[in-house]
Amino acid sequence: MTERTLSIIKPDATRRNLTGKINAVIEEAGLRIVGQRRIRMSRAQAEAFYGIHKEKPFFGELVEFMTSGPVVVQVLEGEGAVSRYREVMGATNPANAAPGTIRQLYAESFTGNSVHGSDSPENARDEISQFFTEADIVG
Ligand code: ATP
Ligand code: MG
Repeated sequence: MTERTLSIIKPDATRRNLTGKINAVIEEAGLRIVGQRRIRMSRAQAEAFYGIHKEKPFFGELVEFMTSGPVVVQVLEGEGAVSRYREVMGATNPANAAPGTIRQLYAESFTGNSVHGSDSPENARDEISQFFTEADIVG
């Protein structure tokens, strides 16, 4: 089924000018970038986005990191886009990411792991609505 997922190219990657290289991996995997915007996330936006991790020991560091520089928020579309993009990103801890995945190729650290991808179709809808209106998405 054609699906949409939210991707974020994180500050460690924008800082190193990796937006184009990451987009190339995404497109080569057959996913279409149907919405894309470069933004600076506010603290409130980052805290809301990662609200599910509020009680985790890494929450403060994560919010600090996500607001430390520009991010590129994207809507990706394709067959089973949510799980497909999780495969393309690789494991959360880059040390465990499979060869050829974005995190294996480009991640700097556990927190600086270059990309975010939604983890379910329900969360994808919710996350997309935090950054995009339907008019911003051109399929
Ligand atoms: P994302 O949600 O960013 O796509 P994910 O779903 O693979 O990544 P989550 O478990 O949702 O991973 O964690 C969100 C983010 O928090 C991770 O991408 C990573 O940047 C950071 N993170 C998660 N676990 C740790 C940890 N143990 N130490 C440091 N940072 C962590
Ligand atoms: Mg997650």
